[in-house]
Amino acid sequence: MRRKFLERNEWRKRVDPVFVQYWSATKKLIVVGPKNRAEKKRAFDELSAASRLMPNAPPKVQNPISARVWAEIHRPLDGETWPHGGEPGKAYAVNPEASSFFRDLVFLQLGISYRELITRAERESNAHRVLLRIHRDYYRFCWECGFKGLRLKFNLDHFRIIVQGLDYGLNSLNEIELASCFDEICPCAQVHSGEYLKKLRRRVKTACDRLIESTNKPTSIGI
Ligand SMILES: [Zn+2]
Repeated sequence: MRRKFLERNEWRKRVDPVFVQYWSATKKLIVVGPKNRAEKKRAFDELSAASRLMPNAPPKVQNPISARVWAEIHRPLDGETWPHGGEPGKAYAVNPEASSFFRDLVFLQLGISYRELITRAERESNAHRVLLRIHRDYYRFCWECGFKGLRLKFNLDHFRIIVQGLDYGLNSLNEIELASCFDEICPCAQVHSGEYLKKLRRRVKTACDRLIESTNKPTSIGI
């Protein structure tokens, strides 16, 4: 029993404590009930403190990927001006496709960037149908059920934790350690399968490698 306990806590030696603090606080803020105001305020303060520490926590790997991956998911099309300007402090209605979340949804559903989908939709009717499906799911997310019922390749929380975690020591964890780490920090607050997470980590790495490789691929098309 003690050996098992030690094994399940080994991950703490290899995962950056600031990363753990940030995600533990994120989880706490999400799972705390809206009625418990004092607890919610405490969770919010903890997350604010962890968010301030995060930019100064150096990645534990030589070529960190998190910033590059998110930049590529949100990167505008060639010739597109985005994000748009506006008066500071004012909120504006946006074209759904020009929102970061639409581009997150493209990646979470298809594992490819918005740039790649739009380039394909110029040439393939099927890719255009897929683009329409993303619009329908964007609507369903906003007005009906959130992520519930959407067919996703990647769960947003799991994807965010793995991509950021790869820069902060998550890559060195075995199945048991991965499950233990996710049980503690993941906002989904479920019991995690180490086998599932190990496979997911591999799929996320493959998708991110592909994404980073496509960074300089133009979206201009011949006329
Ligand atoms: Zn989870």
